[in-house]
Amino acid sequence: MKRYRAEIEGIVQGVGFRPFIYSLAVKFSLTGFVKNTAGGVYVEVQGEESACKAFFDEVITSAPEQANINNISISEISIKQESEFVIQTSISGEHNTLISPDIAVCDDCLRDVFDPKNRRYGYAFTNCTNCGPRFSIIEDIPYDRANTTMREFVQCESCQSEYDDPHNRRFHAQPNACEVCGPALRYSNGETGNSALQSAISDIKAGKIVAIKGLGGYHLCCDAFNDNAVTELRERKNREEKPFAVMVKDISTAERYCYINNSEKALLTSSKKPIVLLKKRNRNMFQAASPNNSRLGVMLPYTPLHALIMQHFDCLVMTSANISDSPMFFEESPELFRIADGVLSHNRNIKRRVDDSVMTVVNNTPHFFRRARGYAPVPINIDCDKEILALGAQQKNTFCVTKQQKAFLSSHIGELDDIDTIQQYISEISSFCHLFGIKPEMVACDMHPDYFSTDYARTFDLDVLQVQHHYAHFASVLAENAVKENAIGFIFDGTGYGTDKTIWGGEMLFGQVNSAKRAGHLRRFPLLGGEAAIKQPWRIGLALLQIAFGGDMSSYFPEHEGEAKILLSACEKGINSPLTSSMGRLFDGIAAIIGLRTECSYEGQAAIELEQIIADEAIDSNYSFEIAYENDNMIFDWISLVRAVVADIKAGISKGNIAKKFHNVCVDLVVNAAKIARERYYTSAVALSGGVFMNEYLLKHCQYRLQANGFNCYVNVKVPANDGGISYGQAAVAANYEKDFELCVLRSREE
Ligand code: ZN
Ligand code: ZN
Ligand code: FE
Repeated sequence: MKRYRAEIEGIVQGVGFRPFIYSLAVKFSLTGFVKNTAGGVYVEVQGEESACKAFFDEVITSAPEQANINNISISEISIKQESEFVIQTSISGEHNTLISPDIAVCDDCLRDVFDPKNRRYGYAFTNCTNCGPRFSIIEDIPYDRANTTMREFVQCESCQSEYDDPHNRRFHAQPNACEVCGPALRYSNGETGNSALQSAISDIKAGKIVAIKGLGGYHLCCDAFNDNAVTELRERKNREEKPFAVMVKDISTAERYCYINNSEKALLTSSKKPIVLLKKRNRNMFQAASPNNSRLGVMLPYTPLHALIMQHFDCLVMTSANISDSPMFFEESPELFRIADGVLSHNRNIKRRVDDSVMTVVNNTPHFFRRARGYAPVPINIDCDKEILALGAQQKNTFCVTKQQKAFLSSHIGELDDIDTIQQYISEISSFCHLFGIKPEMVACDMHPDYFSTDYARTFDLDVLQVQHHYAHFASVLAENAVKENAIGFIFDGTGYGTDKTIWGGEMLFGQVNSAKRAGHLRRFPLLGGEAAIKQPWRIGLALLQIAFGGDMSSYFPEHEGEAKILLSACEKGINSPLTSSMGRLFDGIAAIIGLRTECSYEGQAAIELEQIIADEAIDSNYSFEIAYENDNMIFDWISLVRAVVADIKAGISKGNIAKKFHNVCVDLVVNAAKIARERYYTSAVALSGGVFMNEYLLKHCQYRLQANGFNCYVNVKVPANDGGISYGQAAVAANYEKDFELCVLRSREE
């Protein structure tokens, strides 16, 4: 007879871990107990030595699907008098546990919901230990009902007996509930329960816009095939053309609209159920939801409520309930009633806003556009023993806290330029520090003087490390791939503040996580009229043409000729024409020059459309970037490229072919510059990051060509390549920081 104790760390709470331990102990006839602690799960077992060994083997090999064991430490202790195995209630203490993300409804629960004989038939809040809300309802740890927003619902007898029964799938399922005791639906017409649901469904069928409270916030929802409804939704949301995501009844329905490969199918149907960007079978489908776009953001129902609604529809627009780019509503707000005809709500409170994750599959590997529901706050490995708070960038913001080799990335926060987003940002930062027991020793932020986070960094009484934007992108790739050698980084991005006070974004860096330098960049051009050029790519096209051809190019875009003259003369005088080396803007400029898009309704639209028109046929490219040198830096000169594009337009070459040649020359640039850098710097490691690498064609071909040329090519997989990954990169730099250098400045707390 032996007795062992074990401490198990990882995602082990809220995932059916204690019932799993209980049934294993029963299986091997062991006595003892299991309990949640703030550090994870604590187990003591007693029995035959071989049975104990077999027990621990199975703990590791057959843990519940949603569990993730990071560490298990087992030691022998002295035998006790006892006759059974029990689950003890939780104690609080040191905060060391990991918090499970929200999990999409499981198949067993769906069966309950659709079985007329089941007591949960039609119940929208059905869940079990394998599924349901977690991160969006947790207020404190350990993860027990009393520490969630389910606290106010007292379980009925039937629910309580499931909750107490170790053989039941709902044993200690914290959000366990039923029609009798749990949360209930209500509709804005006053109906509740099933009638509320039916009213909402008939309103959607009638072409109305209905707000639906989901897991981490409200969606705005309407019939995806009703163009009037979708157009009306665009007006009310003040969102002209940016695509809306849709929710589709099931995977076979999704396959009717889109091409879906096995990796995409696995992602769509996973327990995380993100929005996956898929290629439409016909570009002209869903013109209202996803105009001029060959892709469609698709997700499957991920709560019982969605599943109940989607029984009546093949496809609904399901977009975050917000106005323009402001954050999604997660509490009932009067504004919701202004944009929706009806509001389908319920009384299970959402503790924190959690947006839908958005992903795309490139080379069979999922990549994040937005890392949120289903993924946050699962930690990402980082070489860091310090406790650091990294504040991220201004757009697509996430922040990140670190502790014991783990980085906890927040869910997508959004654009830090309105008061609601900023409030949520600040409250989530303090919530993360509390939940994960982190007392930051240092704050990391961007170098941009106008970012909210740069000012906010100074409000902590701590040393602040300012990390150059593209260096943070570079470090994010190196850190998530644990690259320790020197690497060459191609960081192709929209815009980021550079150390020379110009706007960077087409950068080649060289170095490591703890020290890097700028080694090359695009030839600079002026952003005519400043930031406004982002939504008016013709201004960028004009700047490129003016430099490439000289003379007076103001009539190239005839509809803007007057404005062009003013902008060019202002530029000559150095007024409001900041210089940039941004690759994202070069894409915009080319899209404008070929007449594809001269004005955008959202950032990056021109570049996205340029990728989507790439012709299928094989075509030889005669485009090239010339590589010049300025001091020690490589300059990627696009002048002859722009001239060749204009010559192609005159020769009647199609936009699709020009787009393809342009993409290919960008791939050539990466490969050629990497070859030169390999000779100069003696390294074959290449890192790719920055928002422009959300371009699937560019990413795929760069990876392929670099590998074919003997390079080790590293990309972002665990964090987004866009600004959603910046906080993680900042944390990685701060973790390894030794001394100031060009791309990194420490401001000590006394300053
Ligand atoms: Zn379930
Ligand atoms: Zn109940
Ligand atoms: Fe960026």
